[in-house]
Amino acid sequence: MPGPDSSALRARDHAVLWHPFTQQQAWVSEDAPVIVAGEGCELIDADGRRFLDGTSSLWCNVHGHRHPTIDAAITDQLGRVAHTTMLGLTHPTAIELAERLVAIAPGDLSRVFYSDTGAAATEIALKMAFQGHMQAGETTRTRFAYLESSYHGDTLGAVSVGGIDIFHERFGPLLFDAIKLPFGDAEGAAALIAQHGSELAAVIVEPIVQGAGGLLVQPDGYLRAIREACDAAGAFLICDEVATGFGRTGTMFACEQEDVAPDILCLGKGISGGYLPLAATLATEAIYERFLGGVEELKTFFHGHTYTGNPLGCAAAIATLDVFEEEQVLERVAQRSIQFGTLLDEHVASLAGVQEIRRRGLMCGVELLPHAATERAGHQVIVEARNRGVLLRPLGDIVVLMPALAISAEQLERLVRVTAEAIAVVSERLGVPAAPRPLAGRRIPS
Ligand SMILES: *Cc1c(COP(=O)(O)O)cnc(C)c1O
Repeated sequence: MPGPDSSALRARDHAVLWHPFTQQQAWVSEDAPVIVAGEGCELIDADGRRFLDGTSSLWCNVHGHRHPTIDAAITDQLGRVAHTTMLGLTHPTAIELAERLVAIAPGDLSRVFYSDTGAAATEIALKMAFQGHMQAGETTRTRFAYLESSYHGDTLGAVSVGGIDIFHERFGPLLFDAIKLPFGDAEGAAALIAQHGSELAAVIVEPIVQGAGGLLVQPDGYLRAIREACDAAGAFLICDEVATGFGRTGTMFACEQEDVAPDILCLGKGISGGYLPLAATLATEAIYERFLGGVEELKTFFHGHTYTGNPLGCAAAIATLDVFEEEQVLERVAQRSIQFGTLLDEHVASLAGVQEIRRRGLMCGVELLPHAATERAGHQVIVEARNRGVLLRPLGDIVVLMPALAISAEQLERLVRVTAEAIAVVSERLGVPAAPRPLAGRRIPS
């Protein structure tokens, strides 16, 4: 039962707040939990209920909440300075983090440009690619290509190269025109890149798994084919690893799985362990050099944010990388990933209400059978899961399972069992026939 504290807090929320990606008219009629604390992979609400954080606080928590190493690093930085600018000054925490990122980044990415959100990281990548070409005399390269069903953030530049139709259409008149490449079709994508070769500044992709577009797993060879087409066309490849970076798909960065290195890499979400708003755009030395010149040449990269390179965020990020090493996190993710697949096969794949399971590592989408939008089937599933102590967030009728890398074997089992139960209850309510459908074609193995 919701206690007096949470009811009062919700009333105050309903009076003054406007939530992201939320139909407020529905929101104010729902009793969403009021989260007051976190511990490991659990969140605790104002009524003292504990929930498993099944989507890692929107895909960003990595090593769990209140990890002692990250907490200590932030406290330590707080004891020195919380924020100072990167415009005209520098600081040791930003320097160390940049060294650490360059050391683990794929290929020869050697320069780190900080910002504070994933959308900013992709905006920066686009502007960097464009200005970089202009300053190399490649003045025809004014356009971008992007993948169908991709997502790069909600600012206007990021939406212009986003492939989710509802966002694109809503803001259509405000967007710049970009070239859409077909999802999963390597030949078709390569042909379009070649066709627009000399006008392309860059191709921007979410490597391996396209998150917000519906947890779409790209076929093997697709990313590699795009890399090769970019090379042939003289266009940069931008990999947006805001969602896939930091171990989410099993490797530190997803592009490693195709042995691909981008010219520009966007990082966000998990970079600070899910603690603080921090993002980074990494570039090769060759791109960086295009911006060098006398002050009067105006080759400066004209972009920056007030909180660029925030010391607290950088401290959290360094500690996050430390924990990867100290706790051999990628080894643990490999085991969890196998367990995840087995659990999904056992409990979810045979459910009558499930259309398809798509997964790579600890990044998974369970697509329900199609229902009318008014049914809000995905939402109903997350309400049922919440009533059973698991917090999820759907993408329409796709139930997203995106636990922190720190999730224990027992918690992962709970996550999958509760999800299965919630789907079963909702399917029955919506009148999905109980007989399981044949498995063939319902899963993309990972
Ligand atoms: C979440 C996300 C972004 C945007 O990050 P914000 O921090 O929400 O602005 C960009 N690209 C991808 C692939 C994402 O998943």
